[in-house]
Amino acid sequence: MINVGVLGATGAVGQRFVQLLASHPWFNLQTLTASERSAGKSYRDAVNWRLDEPFPESVGDIVVKNTDVNSVKDLDLVFSALPASLATNLETDISRAGVAVCSNASSHRMDEKVPLVIPEVNPDHLGLIDLQRDSGSDGFIVTNPNCSTIVMVSALNPIKHHEISDIRVATMQAISGAGFEGVAAMSIYDNVIPFIGSEEEKMENETQKIMGTFDGSQIISAPFSVSASCHRVPVIDGHTLAVWLGVNASVEELKNDYRNYRAPFSGLPTQPDKSVILLEQEDRPQPRLDRNRGRGMTVSVGRVREGIRFIAMGHNTIRGAAGASVLNAELIVSKKYL
Ligand code: NAP
Repeated sequence: MINVGVLGATGAVGQRFVQLLASHPWFNLQTLTASERSAGKSYRDAVNWRLDEPFPESVGDIVVKNTDVNSVKDLDLVFSALPASLATNLETDISRAGVAVCSNASSHRMDEKVPLVIPEVNPDHLGLIDLQRDSGSDGFIVTNPNCSTIVMVSALNPIKHHEISDIRVATMQAISGAGFEGVAAMSIYDNVIPFIGSEEEKMENETQKIMGTFDGSQIISAPFSVSASCHRVPVIDGHTLAVWLGVNASVEELKNDYRNYRAPFSGLPTQPDKSVILLEQEDRPQPRLDRNRGRGMTVSVGRVREGIRFIAMGHNTIRGAAGASVLNAELIVSKKYL
């Protein structure tokens, strides 16, 4: 078994990590960290469990530690669900201490030597790990994308062999994407907020990196333009995206690509049967009805039509965060980086 920990284990993403890792077949969940407010308490007492899955009693007695290098230096791998302000230095220090870091935070996503990975899309970008190891430490950082970017890029994956010239996207993002304390009820109830800080830049830059080419020493960004407009809506979980695509293909060709799509690998425990599914009903996908497909790991696509336009939807704290990171870690193990 590979000994792992979760940084920021009491937050929205941290709780998802704990839920996914509590009985994972490859990973032994040993260490949970959070802020000084939680450190020293049992996880059961520290956490305000807010997922609709039952609390995993098997980890309830783990005593929450402070979030620092000493707390995790004896582990093989940590999953980071820390605020970016903390993650920037801490994830670097932990990787230099010889520990692998799979991070949800945005801090290192655009670093030249840090892979930004969706296993079904760009598994070869893990080759950047070797460049990080050139600096002498066994540790490394691998990141997963922003929660809206991963839904869009996953939805583009089955059709990316067509020539894409530009992507425009409008998002309708769930409240849980801002963390438990992120959006006040008085701000979002009966409302839409047409601004999410740095989100549009993340979607534009991260998409070009993930869909770029790894030449053995660097990532060459994808050549198409991406233009995003991001909005917070009163949905609990599940980000919905309206995408407009400049693409050299017909609607029927694209629908067939979705119907015939299979992931390029199989056998990872967190991998769903289908990473991307085409829903043919005229009013789908919808977050409440479709976010839990594939245990939250399947991205649903619908309304592929002339324009070219389509809708994509995925669970933001599972496929968009913790599940993405756990799947990355499984890929890392299967490719023998750990
Ligand atoms: P959150 O609900 O606010 O949780 C933050 C976690 O960090 C808690 O465990 C908290 O511990 C801990 N923490 C806060 N301040 C700390 C400090 N000074 N020292 C040590 N630990 C501290 O946030 P979240 O939504 O889970 O997001 C976590 C990260 O994932 C962020 O970087 C976010 O951008 C990213 N992300 C989130 C989503 C999403 O859908 N929510 C998706 C993709 C990526 P206490 O409980 O003790 O305060």
